[in-house]
Amino acid sequence: MSTDFAATRALFDLPEGLIYLDGNSLGPLPRAAAGRVAESVIDEWGQMLIGGWNAAGWMDQPARLGDRIGRLIGAEPGSVVLGDTLSIKVYQALASALDLAVPGRQVVLSDSGNFPTDLYMAEGLIHSLGRGHELRVVAPEAVAAALDESVAVLMLTEVDYRTGRRHDMAALTAKAHEKGAITIWDLAHSAGALPVDLAAVGADFAVGCSYKYLNGGPGAPAFIYVAPRLADRVRPALSGWLGHDAPFAFEPSYRPGRGIERMRVGTPPVLQMAALDAALDVWEGVAMADLRARSLELTDQFIADIEAACPMLTLATPRAHELRGSQVSFRHPQGYAIMQALIAEGVVGDFRAPDILRFGFTPLYTSGDDVAMAAAVLVDVMRQELWDRPEYLTRARVT
Ligand SMILES: *Cc1c(COP(=O)(O)O)cnc(C)c1O
Repeated sequence: MSTDFAATRALFDLPEGLIYLDGNSLGPLPRAAAGRVAESVIDEWGQMLIGGWNAAGWMDQPARLGDRIGRLIGAEPGSVVLGDTLSIKVYQALASALDLAVPGRQVVLSDSGNFPTDLYMAEGLIHSLGRGHELRVVAPEAVAAALDESVAVLMLTEVDYRTGRRHDMAALTAKAHEKGAITIWDLAHSAGALPVDLAAVGADFAVGCSYKYLNGGPGAPAFIYVAPRLADRVRPALSGWLGHDAPFAFEPSYRPGRGIERMRVGTPPVLQMAALDAALDVWEGVAMADLRARSLELTDQFIADIEAACPMLTLATPRAHELRGSQVSFRHPQGYAIMQALIAEGVVGDFRAPDILRFGFTPLYTSGDDVAMAAAVLVDVMRQELWDRPEYLTRARVT
């Protein structure tokens, strides 16, 4: 293995005595991020003021950082741009995909394992379009069979946020194309979690966020990918001024910018991108194949340790390597209370309704010793029923 994971771990500021298995929800702080943000605030905003847009390269950040993320997801140079939230990027991708779809096709096909906001955004867009589209949601295992000539757009999240189940992106993209459908892949639980090769699978659109496995910090911007063969043809639904071909010509009507630039909307979050830029430095020496191999070792180890000692927890994640992402989930009716007890013992995962205990595995800063320790603590919580306390039953606003 050529990647030095002890070295990458040293690049993060992790609280002492805590085992963090929630980097699939919010990545930890890269040590360099605070300094980078301070520089951007003090030297750029403070000293350059409006000049920062040119002198500090603020206006180029969305495409420059898009290329940095693009290398991690197999995207062609110049095919990824950052900005807004993932919910917004889902909306943009779907609107453009429906615009390109075979006329007369009405179905947007997705699955019940998709993250709610992806489905909600599709519902809202379909309502606004008022053209009678139908959002068809099937079980994850039933997607391939549901792909037929009625499907305009196939919109899926590669790795299921609850169970960690992973779709076969290459096979589903090929089948969708064979049926004449456009594909949108949400990489929220893939980017930085496992190797993705958008160009090789021939994906049309992809979107994702940068605050999970990419460690860009709370509120870090989302990304959108459009295949180069489509980028000059897509019509942006959110036709904001920074996606215009000449924003500073201030023309009275919209003309889309060149290629992926047209998927920009408004002013980019400059300070968030300074943090993300520092977070992306961590990936410089990382081979994605090494990351994947390590992630599978860690998840196998956790599954084996828990299953050996906790028959009351039911594995919700597929066992087959090719069928899972970089998280492990167990079901238990008292999942919420169990997670609160674990957090109190210094092991941080999270809970997803109705009954999922979720653990993210991130080789950049999680070692085999961490995993053994986390498993031992969970076994203790289960055997001694440490979760059975009234203060662990009240749900907080964010779970
Ligand atoms: C995390 C996640 C989101 C979050 O969307 P935001 O707009 O960034 O809040 C959306 N979709 C999926 C699949 C996710 O995992």
